[in-house]
Parts: sequence; structure tokens; C-alpha cells
Amino acid sequence: MGKDAKLSRPYRVESGKKFRLKDFDPGDTGGLKLEKDHAAEKLEKGVDLLAALQDKLYAQDKRALLLIFQAMDAAGKDGTIKHVMSGVNPQGCQVFAFKAPSAEELDHDFLWRTTKCLPERGRIGIFNRSYYEEVLVVRVHPQILAGQKLPPELVTKRIWDERLEDIAAMERYLTRNGIAVVKFFLNVSKKEQRKRFLDRLEEPDKNWKFALGDVEERKHWDAYQEAYEEAIRATATPWAPWYVVPADAKWYTRLVVASAVIDALERMDLAYPEVDEAKKAELEKAREALATAKG
Ligand code: ATP
Ligand code: MG
Repeated sequence: MGKDAKLSRPYRVESGKKFRLKDFDPGDTGGLKLEKDHAAEKLEKGVDLLAALQDKLYAQDKRALLLIFQAMDAAGKDGTIKHVMSGVNPQGCQVFAFKAPSAEELDHDFLWRTTKCLPERGRIGIFNRSYYEEVLVVRVHPQILAGQKLPPELVTKRIWDERLEDIAAMERYLTRNGIAVVKFFLNVSKKEQRKRFLDRLEEPDKNWKFALGDVEERKHWDAYQEAYEEAIRATATPWAPWYVVPADAKWYTRLVVASAVIDALERMDLAYPEVDEAKKAELEKAREALATAKG
């Protein structure tokens, strides 16, 4: 494992058994105290490495990587996605954001809309929110579940465990098809969230990001934390790990996420496709023709 991949290790959760959210500090910066410029420089190096690995993933065209981002509002999902993926070839990358479901989506099972957006082989797919909302926002707000048109006998108190079981099975299935799954919970503190909301109100350039509903959701903070904890416990596995990423310092969040993506790609043993003898002869012919051609 390269040193770039190592940085994310302390935040990787592969088993739910002893997992507790309170063991993870949102303000952690891994003992690093970087100046803004230095952090940007370090991230740039990580992004270059990530881009080189993605190029191989694309050329090999066998595997895919699904990155899932979940977080409370203002934890920095959008900025993290933007910065970490900044060096990656846009052709090899697909980003989807999932908001409240449409009428058409509610007419299907809950995995339908995200399944349609899974990455093709050779690609990195990014979900900005995902099917995990079905055990987070829907769990915190039972009236959303009531609007999901489910047959009443299927709506019991076991529904959350059942959904988590289905999610875990689906992620197992994906990895068995060559699609690696890595999930990020950007772990912001309630205090830092308040500060970021206030910034959005005070700075005109950030006003557009402010949503009154987000302040309303703060009232359910503890319920969300519990729902996240349950979700991570039920779905953290060695093949589809969660990363609980400290999110109070944005520069550190980005470094950890970049490191985790590098780690996921390094585990794939990627290489450019080998050219066989016949193809080599063909290339040599083409080279000769070009070398002796006029004009
Ligand atoms: P940002 O606020 O940074 O632009 P966002 O991801 O918060 O990004 P919004 O449009 O503000 O985007 O919010 C999307 C909302 O949709 C969230 O509150 C989320 O919980 C909700 N949502 C996502 N999936 C579902 C779902 N399956 N059922 C109900 N609500 C959902
Ligand atoms: Mg929002």
C-alpha cells in the first residue's frame, strides 16, 4: 500500500460489530497541521495519482468503482467530490445526485433508480446521496415511508433491518460482478454545521446554498446520527467498506477521501492491456508506413 492510501486507514470500517459513531471525532486531522497551501499541494499530488490509476481502469475496461457519499447538510459532499475528482478524465467518471424521489421512481422498488445509474466497466461512478437515504431520511421521517405505496403487510417494525439486509446483499452482488463499492460518511459536528449555515447567511456568494429546511432538519440531529450508526453497522464489510471521514476541516476531508479512492483503485491490480504478438507486428507495420510516408 502506498503512503497516499495509508492516510485513510484509521477511518475505514469493515465490520459493524463494534462500530460506534462516537468513537470517531469530526475534528480529527490525523495529527496534521497543514497550512492551506500545503494541504492543496498534497491533495494535488493525490489527485494526479488517482488520475493515473483511473486511466488504467478505463483502458482495462473490466472493473468499475462506485463511490457513495452520504452526510448531513453542509458537511462538504459537493466540494469534496469536485476537488477529489478534479484531475480525472470526465469520460471515465459519472456523477449522479439523488433527491426526493419522483412519482415515477415511487412506482418502483427502492433500488430501481440508483441501479439504472451504476457505473459501466472502466468507469468511476459517484452517488451524491444514494439508496442509503431509504434508511436515513425515510427512517427519521415516517411520513415519507407512508407515501411509498408499499403493501401494508410489508410495512412492519422490521422494515429498516430488512432494507439494510437488502442493501448489503446488493453490494455483495455488485462486487461479485467486478464493481467495487466504497461508501463515505462525511462526519461533520453539529457545531461546525451551525457555523457553515451562518456563513451561508452572511456571505452573499453563499446565500444560494442556504435552505430553510436544512435548519429544520437540525432538530432531528440525534435521530440521524442513530440512523447512520445503524446503517454503517449493518453494511460495513471488507468488500464494501464505509469510511467515516472527519469533516470539520475541509482540507482534511478531501485528503482522506482522495486517499481512500487511491486505496480502492490500488487494490484492483490495474494494468494497461497487454498487446499480443500479432498486434505488435501490426503496430510495427503502421509505424514503418508512417515513418516513410511523405507529407
Ligand atoms: P445541497 O444542499 O448541498 O445542494 P443536497 O444533497 O442536500 O445538496 P438537496 O436538494 O438540498 O440536495 O436535498 C435533497 C434532499 O432529498 C435531501 O434532504 C435528502 O434527504 C432527500 N432525499 C434523497 N433521497 C430521498 C429518498 N429516497 N426519499 C426521500 N427523500 C430523499
Ligand atoms: Mg441540501
